[in-house]
Amino acid sequence: MDDDTRRFRQWSREVQDLIRVVWLLDWDQAVLMPPAGVRQRSEQLKTLAGVLHRRITDPGDGEVLERVAARADGDPDLAADVRVMRHRRDRALKVPADLEAERARVCGLAQREWERAREAGDFEAFRPYLEDVVRLVREVGLALDPEHPYDALLDDHEPGMTEAALRPLFSEVEDRTRGLLARVQGSGAVVNRAVFERDYPVADQEAFARRLAADLGFDFEAGRLDRSAHPFTAGSFRDVRMTIRHDPGNLATALFATLHETGHALYEQGIDPDRERDPSGQSCSMGIHESQSRLWENLVGRSRAFWAFCLPRLKEAFPGRLDDVDTDAIARAANVVRPSLIRVEADELTYNLHILLRFDLEVALIGGRLAVADLPDAWNEGMRRMLGLDVPDDRMGVLQDVHWSAGMFGYFPSYTLGNLYAAQFFGRLREEVPDVDARIARGEFGCIREWLSVRIYREGRRHLPAELCERVTGRPLSVDPLFDHLERRLSEVYRF
Ligand code: ZN
Repeated sequence: MDDDTRRFRQWSREVQDLIRVVWLLDWDQAVLMPPAGVRQRSEQLKTLAGVLHRRITDPGDGEVLERVAARADGDPDLAADVRVMRHRRDRALKVPADLEAERARVCGLAQREWERAREAGDFEAFRPYLEDVVRLVREVGLALDPEHPYDALLDDHEPGMTEAALRPLFSEVEDRTRGLLARVQGSGAVVNRAVFERDYPVADQEAFARRLAADLGFDFEAGRLDRSAHPFTAGSFRDVRMTIRHDPGNLATALFATLHETGHALYEQGIDPDRERDPSGQSCSMGIHESQSRLWENLVGRSRAFWAFCLPRLKEAFPGRLDDVDTDAIARAANVVRPSLIRVEADELTYNLHILLRFDLEVALIGGRLAVADLPDAWNEGMRRMLGLDVPDDRMGVLQDVHWSAGMFGYFPSYTLGNLYAAQFFGRLREEVPDVDARIARGEFGCIREWLSVRIYREGRRHLPAELCERVTGRPLSVDPLFDHLERRLSEVYRF
């Protein structure tokens, strides 16, 4: 390895380390930090954002980057690392260091205020903080792309994606969701979730979640499972941290959160060990990340085969609670379609309507067409239009998600993209592993992990998400696989 390449490797790996330290502080804030620590922590986040910015924009390392780029063609991994670092550097050079640091500080504070405001259902208490976040994030977006600030923010989560490319995709998702919802509602079939809504002690739920995560392949030597106000996964490789939340009267909350977060965690634990500190050794995009969580949560976790595996284990873990329930009954209960207020608990079909609403609202906020003060009304009006529901209070409405308080604008589309990618990936997997259902029913999840590992985990960030999708499935991203899957599954459950 020549001197330039060595220096490039050191620089890119230091940047990667700093990014991971920020993740760790974020996790600590959400899970362990005492409430009074928030101001100190937000100053630490501000300092680190400044350090990271200076490290990425270092002029000497920038020159090395260009020299390495000029002769990286023969080495695809090095060329991919150069591409990722050049993108990070170009981005950082456009955003003043002070702005990036101030955004980090304000988002640190706003997350704690969001948690309090959500608990109290008090949007007014949170409003000034969210106004600061939106103002700063919008400034960042405008610094990156004065014409299309939202696209610049979207690109942070889904490289190469634009609002213009999402619009037709999302409008097809909306139309086909409405069509299928009308068929479900017109079927007359009565399906409910009552089996999940019995008394399930939280301690037993927690033990079951750990066992399920391990069954799916989560390595507890290289990860943790904790509680937080909003389920999420942070960290990577040999230190992957999942959080979930429990509802004593609803087993489905923790169960599906475990499936979802374990999907994220398996992706992170599965990254190429030889490239774990390299920029293109990381996950491809947040859309691909959400495809991994939604694949385990929905394609696997709502299948009849999964419940054939899971129900006997549930009966063992919760003696006497499920004696009257068989596989068909619980599999149907896992697929109830009912427009509801909370995104993370939404059914597989109407889930995307929640995302489409958030997408419209955040595009308007970043575009300066919607004021934060008008956000609750716009939310409530949107919920009526999209899902036909009245929102009783802001806790069940605009305050339910952590993303905007954390400055994560442009993230929400990742979920619907993830649903689309997941169905397309799983369709391909099914062609190559025809007995996948029989294996799921026996709890043999290794075949799914191995398939994903070769095609997705270990590919890291070598390709843009759109390219990865074509490589894995042989065709560009399409709405068809998701709706083919939903139609097959829901016609069984609702017998239409
Ligand atoms: Zn997720």
